[in-house]
Amino acid sequence: MADIRIAIIGFGKIAKDEHVPAITQNPAFRLVAAVAPRGAPEAGVPVFADLHQMLQEIALDAAAICTPPAARHAIARDCLEAGLHVLLEKPPCTTLGEVADLAALSQQRQLSLFTSWHAQLNESVGEAARLIREQGLQSMRIDWLEDVEKWHPGQRWIWEPGGFGVFDAGINALSIATLLSPSVLVLRQARMVLHPAGQQPIAATLEIVSRGVAGPIEARFDWRHKGQERWTIEVLTRAGNRLLLSDGGAVLQVGDAAPIRHPGGEYAAIYARFEQLIRTQQSHIDTEPLRLTADAYLLADRNGAN
Ligand code: NAP
Repeated sequence: MADIRIAIIGFGKIAKDEHVPAITQNPAFRLVAAVAPRGAPEAGVPVFADLHQMLQEIALDAAAICTPPAARHAIARDCLEAGLHVLLEKPPCTTLGEVADLAALSQQRQLSLFTSWHAQLNESVGEAARLIREQGLQSMRIDWLEDVEKWHPGQRWIWEPGGFGVFDAGINALSIATLLSPSVLVLRQARMVLHPAGQQPIAATLEIVSRGVAGPIEARFDWRHKGQERWTIEVLTRAGNRLLLSDGGAVLQVGDAAPIRHPGGEYAAIYARFEQLIRTQQSHIDTEPLRLTADAYLLADRNGAN
């Protein structure tokens, strides 16, 4: 394939901030259309209010689905049925069943399905995972604190059923944690503080265990935080080394050494990986962060004070 003709479906914050620049900078891809129910004149390509009209009128090889998660499954099904390779923004769907359905369909149609977890693709995260494989995992402490007004301005879907609340951000931390941990993460306890709208948490704490990990694995997510956001994961290895991932996984500090920010963007890496999957006729389907989130919703004490 000389170049991969791709459409972006859902032209909101992440599509404009990250997907358009990453596609533009990757010579393997050519952005040829977008779907935006309320229009997107800035897209610079034909924009459709209706997905099916785009699928009928535009020749495409792939689609990047950047809507809120609740819309993703139906759109991805239609794209796979239309013969397109599919990249799913995180979280890949609202439920594990929806992802399983897409996995089966993509396999049946011999198309690439990519559940992209952008935070996993930081080089610092890969380096931390390598060190943990060498040294073993003793404990992990996750703090994912940000001001929802700053990072989700005017987004009502985050509070609706299937909107994930604070887990929309926290699942990024879980995507890193599941990659770092050598063994399966098992949730033991969860507490949620619900947003006044009542459907979704605005804060949560998790207590996790994992086979062979002696120390605690704990997570705190909070969207009531003001000021400088804090997206950190602090790991103690069994060899006694302290690893500190900060800035959402972009920066790694090992012991007392100076923190290192590895070059290379998350979204450039996402499109490099998507291209590789398409060319090798493979899929990459990782549901572990969503499974852990679903477990939190199964287990959580909703009256918990955090
Ligand atoms: P957003 O700004 O609200 O954008 C979502 C866009 O999807 C809106 O333009 C919306 O259009 C459109 N949309 C909704 N339903 C649609 C449908 N059925 N067909 C086509 N378009 C539809 O949200 P966002 O922040 O970009 O987040 C989208 C996804 O990216 C979420 O899963 C989020 O977790 C993930 N993400 C976000 C960030 C971030 O920093 N914002 C970072 C990484 C990942 P209307 O406005 O007309 O409804």
